[in-house]
Amino acid sequence: MDQEFENIKCLIIGSGPAGYTAAIYAARADLKPVVYQGLQPGGQLTITTEVDNFPGYPEGITGPEMMEQLKKQAERFGTEARWGIVTEVDFSSRPFKISADDGKRIMADSVIIATGASAKWLGIESEKKFNGQGVSACATCDGFFYRGKDVAIVGGGDTAAEEATYLAKLCKKVYMIVRRDELRASKAMQEKVFNTPNIEVMWNHTTKEILGDFSGVNGVLLQNVKTGEDKQLAIHGFFVAIGHSPNTEIFKGKLDMDDMEYIKTVPGSAKTSVEGVFAAGDVQDHHYRQAITAAGSGCMAAIEAERFLSSK
Ligand code: NDP
Repeated sequence: MDQEFENIKCLIIGSGPAGYTAAIYAARADLKPVVYQGLQPGGQLTITTEVDNFPGYPEGITGPEMMEQLKKQAERFGTEARWGIVTEVDFSSRPFKISADDGKRIMADSVIIATGASAKWLGIESEKKFNGQGVSACATCDGFFYRGKDVAIVGGGDTAAEEATYLAKLCKKVYMIVRRDELRASKAMQEKVFNTPNIEVMWNHTTKEILGDFSGVNGVLLQNVKTGEDKQLAIHGFFVAIGHSPNTEIFKGKLDMDDMEYIKTVPGSAKTSVEGVFAAGDVQDHHYRQAITAAGSGCMAAIEAERFLSSK
């Protein structure tokens, strides 16, 4: 075998709840897993505050704390968690050939993809222009900077509702910009929004432009989709919470994906279209997208990887 390659039984790409749960199971099955942590070590939970719906934490736990614990648990059984990003995969024959940005070239007998999903953006010019200068896709990371100020958040799902109520605790006023006349968020989250006096929902509005100058954002120009009327709001922070897209760029053309580019798995399993490659968590699930479902599918992926390896 080519000496320059490192041999790994089970390579896990991604370090959210799916990746680390897969690592816990794979390590306990003696597969000596290596986890490439990716661009956002710990995944999306590291940019949330309280996690109140993960079983086993009656008082809740913060996202970063939970991910630290999952990592420690995986390491306790011998997982090697590496800083770095997998840059290229070749699934055309086994062992699979993988390159990472730490210069490593790997031959992997099995691969578990748990690269998750990332926030979507509106795609308007001013959003890019003011990114980091008043525009953010993470209220829990950046809300702090807008204490006592007026802000806007776009989106009508659970994320937008949760972040709007979070921002309402810090900011003077929160405008929630919703493109329809109803929220997609769960009834419980809707109640929270409607019962927070300093949140004003701007129904049927889209964002035309984010306004500002050299010192950052100072307003937003909206359009009422029903009447066509424009409306300008004075704000200092503009938050985007309109959903996510899967992190599947490097797997395009190498695995079957659905029309939203989520990796397709065989129903009820973590198997992808390539034998020996498994997918877990948000990268293959746009329906549930919960930490607990991601963890569950990570467990499935590791068990299937172990069965696959012992059958070879
Ligand atoms: P969703 O896809 O559920 O909602 C996206 C929201 O953004 C929708 O209101 C959508 O509008 C709106 N939107 C999409 N594109 C645009 C656009 N270009 N311009 C304006 N508005 C736009 O994403 P979420 O991130 O909110 O939630 C993802 C999943 O995670 C869901 O299953 C959710 O239940 C779950 N979640 C659960 C939480 C919890 O249980 N604590 C917390 C956060 C998320 P429209 O409705 O018109 O399509």
